[in-house]
Amino acid sequence: MKAGKLLGLVVAAALLARAATATEWKIVKQNGRDYVSFANLAEFYHFGEYTHANRTISLRSERRGILAHAETNEIRINGVKFYTLFPLEMHGGESLISAVDVGKIVEPVLRPSRLKNAQKVDTVVLDPGHGGTDIGTKNAWGTEKGFALEVALIAREQLQRAGFTVEMTRSGDQGLSLEERVEFANRFNNAVFVSIHFNAGTGGAGVESYALAPEGVPSTQSGGHHAASADAQPDNGNAQDGHNVALTAAIHASVLSRVSANDRGVRHARFKVLRHIRIPAVLVEGGFLNDPGEGQRIATPQYRQQLGTAIAQGIQNYNAAVNYRSGNAGFTVARASLPAHSRSITEPLHAAPPVTPVAPEEPSVSISAGE
Ligand SMILES: [Zn+2]
Repeated sequence: MKAGKLLGLVVAAALLARAATATEWKIVKQNGRDYVSFANLAEFYHFGEYTHANRTISLRSERRGILAHAETNEIRINGVKFYTLFPLEMHGGESLISAVDVGKIVEPVLRPSRLKNAQKVDTVVLDPGHGGTDIGTKNAWGTEKGFALEVALIAREQLQRAGFTVEMTRSGDQGLSLEERVEFANRFNNAVFVSIHFNAGTGGAGVESYALAPEGVPSTQSGGHHAASADAQPDNGNAQDGHNVALTAAIHASVLSRVSANDRGVRHARFKVLRHIRIPAVLVEGGFLNDPGEGQRIATPQYRQQLGTAIAQGIQNYNAAVNYRSGNAGFTVARASLPAHSRSITEPLHAAPPVTPVAPEEPSVSISAGE
């Protein structure tokens, strides 16, 4: 047997061993809910570096990073802020994250290619918020309905150029109900739905992006003006929770990497326009019209060009990430026996906070000798 082949077998055995140990979650009950420690999370997702000091938890590997502060409701994954579905807890000196957050946020963001039933996106349904007599919010320079439409038209152009079919819930100043938007979107298969809005309120400034809240999870407090319906009951859209979060994270990361704006995080809400959608869906709040600085920036064509381009790019990043390796005959085997590839949906945002760069490592090296 050649040395190369023997090495291959050794590496394969190491992979299998790792995969086997990696599946062990050590569940800790807190307030009747399942939690796991961040140390356990680091082990499962093969983060080589794990530190927990002064209530700051940091998980790092060559290309990925998670940062959290004990007993808050925020985590950063590869630099992007997410509101957790349940608060982070402490138990016996260990910082914990809920199993629901691991399944509904961490997993789809770190390993989007493992999402079940991921479809290649053919059609993008763009939904400029409001329209007609419903102007949304406004400032001295314009209306939400107008700005949202302009951003959507820019995104449409970019997406069509990239080969997608683009459907618009409105391409002019028509008024239509939330139900009509959802009904329209649900006509399309192999599609995603992107609702585009701008914010108003006392919340400050910045960009926030919403995925449908999973069943039984309270909505994140919204800085905005969009009516959410009651919590706790499951909705059609909950059938694709993982896809919703992956799409939301991909677009949010792309927007923040191109638009100079405050990161108000990936959030969860039960907005009517997200509840009954049967395709992956997101609602993007592209900034606060009533903030003096941001409101004026949104009124510039450059900002809307950047935002529309970023949304289009985010959709393409999502499509590439969820379909990574699909079509490969060995896909099922690879899923069962190999550790996750490190391709992450939020890769463009490496810079903040910085993930310490280390020498590039071959997978076989890091697995056998790296730790
Ligand atoms: Zn709106």
